[in-house]
Amino acid sequence: MGVFSGHTDSEDTSHEQVVFCQDKPTGLRAIIGIYSTALGPALGGTRFYPYGSEADAVHDVMELSRGMAYKNSLAGLDLGGGKAVIWGDPERGKTEALLRAYGRFVDSLGGRYITACDVGTYVADMDIVARESRWVTGRSEEYGGAGDSSVLTAWGVFQGMRAAAEHTWGSPSLAGRRVGIVGLGKVGKILTGHLLADGATVAATDISERARDWVRSTHPQVDLVDDEPALITSGIDVYAPCALGGALNDRTVPVLAAKIVAGAANNQLAHPGIDKALADRGILYVPDYLVNAGGVIQVADEIEGFNFERAKLRVTRIYDTTRRLLAEAEADGVPPAVTADRMAERRMADVGRLSTIRRPVPPVTRSTSRWG
Ligand code: NAD
Repeated sequence: MGVFSGHTDSEDTSHEQVVFCQDKPTGLRAIIGIYSTALGPALGGTRFYPYGSEADAVHDVMELSRGMAYKNSLAGLDLGGGKAVIWGDPERGKTEALLRAYGRFVDSLGGRYITACDVGTYVADMDIVARESRWVTGRSEEYGGAGDSSVLTAWGVFQGMRAAAEHTWGSPSLAGRRVGIVGLGKVGKILTGHLLADGATVAATDISERARDWVRSTHPQVDLVDDEPALITSGIDVYAPCALGGALNDRTVPVLAAKIVAGAANNQLAHPGIDKALADRGILYVPDYLVNAGGVIQVADEIEGFNFERAKLRVTRIYDTTRRLLAEAEADGVPPAVTADRMAERRMADVGRLSTIRRPVPPVTRSTSRWG
């Protein structure tokens, strides 16, 4: 039975904890989902979104928190997976009091959940949430935050793409390959720069005229294509979806020209089974949540005090993880998406199990006891 209004119909019941938070005076209705803390505190952003119903909000937080557990595990982080949703209109409902009320609920979990930005929330919002809780990342640079996460997200996508190129063609270099990017947003723009520097030919498209103008003036050598259907059939070797989810679907996969798919967009596979359709066509799909982990690796680094070079080094390891994953998928004869889930689950089980080895309990002293 739902707390706010009705029922929940989520099918996934593996979550450790789901917390419903309400503060009527500010209008706050939030749900914090903790899928797993096997590897550490559950890290994941806060989505502020006007869901159509409570059931939609619950469904989203369940799916998103599960996804973060897998992403954080595969990224090699000592962090579990969680996510929060605030059910409301961020344009009209976002006030200081509401964000601070939310911060108090985050704080009440004592560090079991660490929040960050997501759709509808920004660094300035996290600075406000952080006035009520220290379990907040994605903060502004003035407060020790890491700033724009797209820099390292693009770097990670590039690393995953290089590993896939090596697996497919024997060399990680993309020189002479035609790479198609759909979505010249924050990530797509930076990725374009890495690819051109590596000697690739870049074909790209975006629905935004401003993004198209940017590419015309910044990288006139980029082949600007009309739209996504034209791009994916234009003789590309690599496809990088960097716009919205669902890029790999029943319409696109049968006509996709590329040998490799590696891009930043979340949830690229439109439905279960589409990974098999890609494999049947001999297209190597590098799982989205592996290659786009640069952003979460960056915010995770804030927990220790942000250091860009250290975070970049961690993101560069996406290259090694992709190589291992593709080799294992080939050996097992399964699509890489299946291997990604297996590797993430294995690490949660193997490393998560270590917490059962009991360490000496620190004595409770006056200085460490909260209650004196
Ligand atoms: P963004 O909003 O800056 O850019 C998205 C771009 O895609 C925009 O320029 C938009 O005009 C374009 N677009 C939208 N629909 C399109 C369509 N049908 N055809 C062509 N272009 C279209 O977003 P971003 O931060 O660059 O992120 C890109 C993707 O990567 C998103 O799916 C995001 O969830 C994911 N991602 C981003 C990060 C990050 O750190 N920014 C991290 C992980 C995953």
